[in-house]
Amino acid sequence: MKKKIKYSSGETIFHFDSSLESLDKLVDKNATFIITDDNVYHHYQKKLKGWNVLLIKAGEAYKNIDAVQQLIGQLIEAGADRKSTIIGMGGGVTTDIAGFVASIYLRGVDFGFIPTSVLAMVDASVGGKNGVDVGIFKNMAGIIRQPKFLLYDYSLLKTLPHDQWIGGFAEIIKHACIKDAAMFKLLEAHSLKAFKKSPELLSKLIQRNVLIKAKVVQEDETEKGDRKLLNFGHTLGHAIENTYQLPHGSAVSIGMVVAAYLSKAVLDFKESERIIQLVKAYGLPAYYDYDPKDALIKMRSDKKRVKDQIHFVLLEKIGKAIHKPLSMDQIAPVVEAMGGKAI
Ligand code: NAD
Ligand code: ZN
Repeated sequence: MKKKIKYSSGETIFHFDSSLESLDKLVDKNATFIITDDNVYHHYQKKLKGWNVLLIKAGEAYKNIDAVQQLIGQLIEAGADRKSTIIGMGGGVTTDIAGFVASIYLRGVDFGFIPTSVLAMVDASVGGKNGVDVGIFKNMAGIIRQPKFLLYDYSLLKTLPHDQWIGGFAEIIKHACIKDAAMFKLLEAHSLKAFKKSPELLSKLIQRNVLIKAKVVQEDETEKGDRKLLNFGHTLGHAIENTYQLPHGSAVSIGMVVAAYLSKAVLDFKESERIIQLVKAYGLPAYYDYDPKDALIKMRSDKKRVKDQIHFVLLEKIGKAIHKPLSMDQIAPVVEAMGGKAI
């Protein structure tokens, strides 16, 4: 199934239910350079035979300017020109780097993605944010530029480690919370095991999530308004993720529960318990014994802070989110009450 999404900066064709084997129908093999990480390459080396492959090291630690510089050197050496296409095949780290390299090499060449993790399929490779970390600062250097195409081959998920599946589902639950009450129910009715077992069920779920994110981005590519809703669970999540070395999905999950309680305090939101049950059912934590003082300090220094207020994404009900500036006086009691709880 093919779907075209038009953004203000360009358009992307999504090839759902496709296969890696059909990539040569989308691009000229000789003029294409596939960037992938050594992990993913190890699994799919045979399938990539005959393609120009540029390797990066797997892991967030390598999502940096050094990787960009190395790749650009390799592209020059290989004779890549303005007509070349760059493809990022891998998780979000790979797609972020590949999209960034393609956007600055020769002031920008065409690029596409073959996302291979759940997180990359539903989140990182959708929406055109491409960039790298600088030191401890995440995504500090980057650009918004849309890929020409995305190719979805769900069979590539067979080798994805289970904890990476769980992490991807944190963002799926986030999408359900902010935009899609029916999908929230669907997630309640099924399980991670069921989605892993049924390609049809998984395909529908992934498409639904891609369209939620693409639509939000379509209406607000540069994050002046509703794109902020995608930060649900991320304000507190980011404040605890590094400190306790939590996987991103776990930090977001804990952040969503705190945001749900904050929604209860500010908007009389009544469905926190459903969110807690759902994250737990998908193997995610609902609570963490974090230090509330430290979390509040980190949130106060967040780049999304405006004056003394923090823009929080809150829920009016499941499927309906708003963003609202909150004062520290409103936030602190909830953040304090939620820290120190058992996992
Ligand atoms: P990742 O790319 O590090 O992948 C996770 C791990 O899974 C890696 O070890 C990778 O080698 C491995 N892997 C991926 N696919 C595999 C497969 N099919 N089989 C076996 N192993 C596989 O991380 P991620 O969780 O996919 O993405 C996280 C990154 O995405 C972060 O850097 C984050 O900043 C970025 N991100 C970007 C956006 C955006 O809008 N650009 C949005 C969300 C997240
Ligand atoms: Zn996230």
